[in-house]
Amino acid sequence: MNYTTVSFLLLSFSFYLFSCSPKQQEQKPSFAIAIHGGAGHFGEEDISADMQSMYRTSLNNALTAGEDLLSQGSSAVEVVEAVIRILEDDSLFNAGRGAVFTSEAKHELDASIADGSSRNCGAVTGLNGFKHPISVARSVMDSSEHVFFSGHGAGVFAEKFSHEPADASWFHTHKAYSRYKKAAERSGDEVIPLEEKRGTVGCAVLDKHGNLAAGTSTGGMTYKKHGRIGDSPVIGAGTWADNRTCAVSATGWGEYFIRTGVTQDVHSRMLHGKESLSDACEGAIFDEMGKLGGDGGVVAVSSNGKIALVCNSNGMFRAWSNSENRGIAMFGESPDGTIESH
Ligand code: ASP
Repeated sequence: MNYTTVSFLLLSFSFYLFSCSPKQQEQKPSFAIAIHGGAGHFGEEDISADMQSMYRTSLNNALTAGEDLLSQGSSAVEVVEAVIRILEDDSLFNAGRGAVFTSEAKHELDASIADGSSRNCGAVTGLNGFKHPISVARSVMDSSEHVFFSGHGAGVFAEKFSHEPADASWFHTHKAYSRYKKAAERSGDEVIPLEEKRGTVGCAVLDKHGNLAAGTSTGGMTYKKHGRIGDSPVIGAGTWADNRTCAVSATGWGEYFIRTGVTQDVHSRMLHGKESLSDACEGAIFDEMGKLGGDGGVVAVSSNGKIALVCNSNGMFRAWSNSENRGIAMFGESPDGTIESH
């Protein structure tokens, strides 16, 4: 070995050591999780102190469960499903148990899940009679050649995969029913105010293995018309995950999220436009969806462990955590919205 070869090897070795230095590795958190429980036009004055503390407790329980699973090495998909199941069982939120009523006084539940490592996904819409729509969506992803089932077919699929059934009394909550009654008393096609629609749940995760996943579950909008489908079960509008960029879950006025393909917009801005996670979420929410007149927000995590919580409504129930820090919030930075990144 001559002198030049030795110096080349030494130089390459020190470069390798430098590139693996603990300082650099520390910059990427070992996991990241972001959760939402719906967005809307509500400020601190609109929610009683007792209710605020109930929301905090619920968000904290879901977040803690997610953190525990992530620390133990669970996969992003497993964590998304587990966290959303907890929120579906919690009648505070408009998903699973607390789902809102349709104009026909029924429950038609929507859910979707996406796996960033395989870029596979599964979704159900208009599902009735099953406790955990997110788990049915996961079965669609894992066990079907199709990705999206609706109504009766979604129910047949759920039964075939032995998902836990629930009768109408499970879904009948006082809060959702009184919203339904209020809406029914309104005249015909009057638009239901956003504050009566909030409560969809969602979760975006980066796991310890570097994989991303996201999921969303909802009862939709109070008094929605027969067969109406919002953004939550629509991949690219309500949910997205791709290991190259990000995992995103949305909440808000679904029609606007579908019209602008919000969650895929976040991904495309990052992939093709090389935008940061936070800029991509801000662009998709404020410059696209918001400009058409829609309201709502997204929670998102990127493949490098960044977290963004962005909405153009003045409130969004949200919680986030990475291996270093965590937080829970409900209200906006300003009435015009929030752009929060960690
Ligand atoms: N996006 C849901 C829908 O339009 C509602 C919500 O997130 O509050 O069905």
